Amino acid sequence: MTGSRELAGSVAIVTGGSRGIGLGISHALASAGAVVAVVARNEAAAGDAVMELEGDGHAAYSCDVADGRACRKVVASVESAQGPLSVLVNNAGVTSDNILLRMRDEEWSRVIDINLRGAFNMIRAATRGMMKRRSGSIVNISSVIGLMGNPGQANYAASKAGLHGLTKSVARELASRNVRCNAVAPGFIRTDMTAGLPEGKVAELKSSIPAGRLGKPEDVAGVVRFLAGPGAGYITGQIIAVDGGMAM
Ligand code: NAP
Repeated sequence: MTGSRELAGSVAIVTGGSRGIGLGISHALASAGAVVAVVARNEAAAGDAVMELEGDGHAAYSCDVADGRACRKVVASVESAQGPLSVLVNNAGVTSDNILLRMRDEEWSRVIDINLRGAFNMIRAATRGMMKRRSGSIVNISSVIGLMGNPGQANYAASKAGLHGLTKSVARELASRNVRCNAVAPGFIRTDMTAGLPEGKVAELKSSIPAGRLGKPEDVAGVVRFLAGPGAGYITGQIIAVDGGMAM
């Protein structure tokens, strides 16, 4: 599929599209011909990302995905400026690690509100139009931690496992309207989120990855591009790990 322009004429939203995995996804969708709306809290960073993308018509939007009203506003603005939305990638996510007994309510809530409620907010806002048009692809970026759990990440693991349930429910509810919903569960990918890991921890992680290396944003972006496009037209409700074999 790569090399063709299978998403020409499509409009896509990528939350957290300003850096890391989301920026890789924005590039991949733009290369496939989509017009991309890059959503992040920092509008200047989202604007810088837009400048890098192949093709015309891309735009930056500032929005905290934890805010349902702001999500509705962004979807409405994108549809009036860029056109009817056909691809939604819920990639915005954060960590706030702590061991269980020390985890504060705010640490629990912040991670659930951004990673899980944020995806729900965007899906609820985006699907009305998709259902009417009988066309849409939603891709949620979860994590292998949602499949495996991880000490110190009870909030993050719960948010990502929750995304898996959300993905399957949305897939079942909307399949008859030709709206698909899948999740991509990355392993450890080199981004700002993992930049703080001590070298000893990175070496330990590598030894648990059959492929023997951490992933790159492009490793994830290629799979998202495929799921967004017509080649995945009969795929819905799936959780696809992109993790060098870590979680199998
Ligand atoms: P990152 O480099 O920290 O980038 C996070 C992106 O999300 C940024 O664009 C950030 O922009 C945006 N964001 C954060 N909170 C937001 C909010 N409340 N509303 C809107 N945008 C928000 O992270 P990453 O490593 O690329 O991770 C991207 C996704 O992949 C996350 O869902 C993460 O959980 C998942 N993931 C990552 C890894 C990994 O190893 N890196 C592994 C598995 C899964 P602003 O700060 O400007 O809002």
